[in-house]
Amino acid sequence: MATQEPDRSARRRWFRMPASPRPEPAQEESEAPVPLEVPPVDAPPVKLDTIAPAPVDTAVAIPDAEPAPEPPAPETPAFPEPTDEEVAASMTLPRVISIANQKGGVVKTTTAVNLGAALAEIGYRVLVVDLDPQGNATTGLGISHRNVEGSIYDVIMNDTPVDDCVEPTSVKNLFVCPATIDLAGAEIELVPAFSRELKLKRALQGARDDYDFTLIDCPPSLGLLTVNGLAASDDVIVPIQCEYYALEGLGQLLRNVALVKSNLNPELEVRGIVLTMYDARTRLAVQVEAEVREHFGPKVYRTVVPRTVRISEGPSFGEPIIVFDPSSRGAIAYRELAKEVSRGTSRRAG
Ligand code: ADP
Ligand code: MG
Repeated sequence: MATQEPDRSARRRWFRMPASPRPEPAQEESEAPVPLEVPPVDAPPVKLDTIAPAPVDTAVAIPDAEPAPEPPAPETPAFPEPTDEEVAASMTLPRVISIANQKGGVVKTTTAVNLGAALAEIGYRVLVVDLDPQGNATTGLGISHRNVEGSIYDVIMNDTPVDDCVEPTSVKNLFVCPATIDLAGAEIELVPAFSRELKLKRALQGARDDYDFTLIDCPPSLGLLTVNGLAASDDVIVPIQCEYYALEGLGQLLRNVALVKSNLNPELEVRGIVLTMYDARTRLAVQVEAEVREHFGPKVYRTVVPRTVRISEGPSFGEPIIVFDPSSRGAIAYRELAKEVSRGTSRRAG
């Protein structure tokens, strides 16, 4: 197991990204609706359905705007509302949670990094496992791929203990098991391996009790790495972007979760759906939110993560939003989400 903050000051020297001037937060985090500019007549046509503001939120009315198209309906039936007993019984620690959605760019990595940081800030001990060969959670937490001694590839393919690969981050209580590009090969190398779907589960078992929450940042596919992530998890959190195609493929993901549950991991549950990249000025975002809430009911977290450039700037400094801009809307949202996900529990299983 990684000891708490091993030689953090020494590590900081190499894993911190070089400082470049930070943009001022003021203009990015303005709560006021941004007035829409009317394009010049010879400009290419603008798709009003994606930029038209919701009437309540803006002073600028766009005459004759096309109504936003109905977002595609989710492909699966709604979840039943859990009883209070079920909720209470399911909130024991430690928990291993996959952040999964086979679509790319739906904010899996951002959620793994920032939810992890916000849970750590509450006082939970948190491990982020980077299971994506792109390694964005690793760099987003300030760890350079070049300097990692062991990675999740070694854990899965070479039976290296997780503890030997865990790196501390700039947030107290937050650790990362990094990914390097080697992991891209694992998807193929795993094919002939014995118990190939359960490699990660077995590897994490030794470290499970060392962390209150282990968040697995899954790759954008439904391949063997994602199956390993799901098989190793108690829960899945699915991030959904409030965009037109956001719900496409959701049915396939939920069917895969059901397959892993019935064949490999009976404990697996979809713990929650988190709406991200929410822009209240667009009718589309409002519609997607309404659609998802209607369909998935209590599975959808009340917290909605707003679309804000500040969140996307954090990774280039190797910092989660709660460090990079602690009072920003993004930081507030991820703190709220952390409260919802943890429900303030301190109960440990067993
Ligand atoms: P995934 O892991 O699902 O591929 P990412 O977390 O990498 O998605 O996010 C995709 C892109 O969106 C990244 O460039 C990220 O910085 C940006 N992003 C994430 N969350 C937000 C947000 N709330 N507002 C604006 N941009 C965001
Ligand atoms: Mg990612």
